[in-house]
Amino acid sequence: MTIFEKIVSGEIPANKVLENDDFLAFYDINPKAPIHILAIPKKCIKDFHNADAELLKGLNEFIKEVAKKVGLDKNGYRIISNIGSDGGQEVPHLHFHILGGAKLKWEKLG
Ligand code: 5GP
Repeated sequence: MTIFEKIVSGEIPANKVLENDDFLAFYDINPKAPIHILAIPKKCIKDFHNADAELLKGLNEFIKEVAKKVGLDKNGYRIISNIGSDGGQEVPHLHFHILGGAKLKWEKLG
């Protein structure tokens, strides 16, 4: 069971932002920006590469709702999904990082 499945089940607490039947958004425990939220499907799918188009369509709409709820739609934001070891993925449960609340840097990563 991934740590995010434990958050979905309530076994581990999280600071929730938005939730529906299929998706959950909560604040990252180790924020990399003034606002750093994770959006996940409740059902565990390993990563973006293994997600189907229908799920990603729902997640797309959900992320936009989350951004609007916290006011990130006004000045913009960044979404990132890390995939596998080179991608820097630590939790093997598909998630999008939603980052904003400041003008974000964009530096060479590799
Ligand atoms: P990844 O490196 O897999 O793309 O991102 C995993 C993210 O999950 C990291 O930014 C990390 O801070 C966050 N995270 C890990 N464990 C927990 C937790 O128990 N609660 C919350 N809210 N975030 C977590």
